[in-house]
Amino acid sequence: IFALRSSYYFSTGVVEPSSSLRSPPRVPNLIGGKFVDSQSSSTIDVINPATQEVVSQLPLTTNEEFKAAVSAAKHAFPAWRNTPITTRQRVMLKLQELIRRDIDKLAMNITTEQGKTLKDAHGDVFRGLEVVEHACGMATLQMGEYVPNVANGIDTFSIREPLGVCAGICPFNFPAMIPLWMFPVAVTCGNTFVLKPSEKDPGASIILAELAMEAGLPNGVLNIVHGTNDVVNAICDDDDIRAISFVGSNTAGMHIYSRASAKGKRVQSNMGAKNHAIVLPDANTDATLNALVAAGFGAAGQRCMALSTVVFVGDSHSWENKLVELAKSLKVNAGTEPDVDLGPVISKQAKERVCKLIQSGVESGARLLLDGRNIVVPGYKDGNFIGPTILSGVTADMDCYKEEIFGPVLLCMKADSFEEAIHIVNRNKYGNGASLFTASGAAARKFQTEIEAGQVGINVPIPVPLPFFSFTGSKGILCWRSQFLWQGRG
Ligand code: NAD
Repeated sequence: IFALRSSYYFSTGVVEPSSSLRSPPRVPNLIGGKFVDSQSSSTIDVINPATQEVVSQLPLTTNEEFKAAVSAAKHAFPAWRNTPITTRQRVMLKLQELIRRDIDKLAMNITTEQGKTLKDAHGDVFRGLEVVEHACGMATLQMGEYVPNVANGIDTFSIREPLGVCAGICPFNFPAMIPLWMFPVAVTCGNTFVLKPSEKDPGASIILAELAMEAGLPNGVLNIVHGTNDVVNAICDDDDIRAISFVGSNTAGMHIYSRASAKGKRVQSNMGAKNHAIVLPDANTDATLNALVAAGFGAAGQRCMALSTVVFVGDSHSWENKLVELAKSLKVNAGTEPDVDLGPVISKQAKERVCKLIQSGVESGARLLLDGRNIVVPGYKDGNFIGPTILSGVTADMDCYKEEIFGPVLLCMKADSFEEAIHIVNRNKYGNGASLFTASGAAARKFQTEIEAGQVGINVPIPVPLPFFSFTGSKGILCWRSQFLWQGRG
């Protein structure tokens, strides 16, 4: 088991041996092109959520090590920014090939550390791979602007320039896709990078960094430091870091946004969500219910684009019974088992929090149509499993509605009219995404125009755009995902 585990991290042979020889293995930092064991004596266990097995130990990187990572990125910047963009793109061309080669290894690591099904883990890698593919065409995206003769004999042009050292701070729910939202675009623009993976599932970031090095990324262009609040605060405060991309909860995102922007950095914070689906009575019943079940419970509800609240308009409310039957048919098991629909939630604490919010919904008057709290999964008695759970009669004043649950829990609300349903969605503090299910073109157009959400789906359960579009929320979310965060203009 030790050999297999350590192969997640140490497959290219560039890792210093001390980290791989420990049992369980210690997750290395990447500093200046070397995978190095942290000198820190403080560690966090990375735990398999289906079994509670300790997969590895993650160090709380010391301040000196963090400074060394930033310094490596700073020193790599002048040569890297002057490397032709065609060469930088070619590294991405190689990287996408290597990710395809190792996609099974990446997916197995994700399922082991994060818990999602192997199919979802492949999707996690594939969505990130699409960003790498996008970065392969960066030269075209970096074309500037030019207007001749804006005044007599004067032409004006703008040039997109890299900023310098940039940083990324990641959540646990997409251990491959989200690091791949960040560093490939940033470095192909000519920046250098410090990545802080989630402390809960850092393995995919390390494998991706190994692949980036194998693809030819020069030493120091990508660096990785592990830890929690202290290293994040160090990133926010560091004078040499020019821009930060954060993805995670509102609490951390607001803190990072205010702390780092006070230091003059560019910051994007992609934060929490409470995505609503509105269902009109003219929608196709089966297609709608299948979409609601997949988007509500898939990945155990731990997607920022999960549909966690349904607003049934008028008679569509009567579809709740069928929704419950469909949800009951989902298979809950460890992500490595065949034909599984959803795996465990990330931690014991996450399970406790989700169960508490379900209970608070019941105590505030919601009806528990399906209760997944006491599910038993044979062979995985210690796993953090919660079965699909449905609460009906939910109202806007309930805590289960006001807070992001981030578990396999679907809340059902009622509205008498389409206008009332839109009003409910727009009043919610989160505005990541929203979907409408209807057969009416007029309703679809009204929804698209009036709904206050970053991503809008019409008969689409998870309206996530591909990388050549920005990915943006509205209201309680400050974000965009594109090459523009990483560029100044000269
Ligand atoms: P989290 O906020 O707990 O952690 C995210 C990162 O921030 C981690 O690297 C963590 O170490 C760091 N962090 C956490 N608390 C901190 C603090 N107080 N000070 C400094 N750093 C801190 O988020 P999570 O639980 O890992 O991820 C789930 C959250 O991410 C959900 O809210 C989900 O909606 C959100 N998310 C949003 C998007 C999006 O695009 N909007 C995408 C994926 C996930």
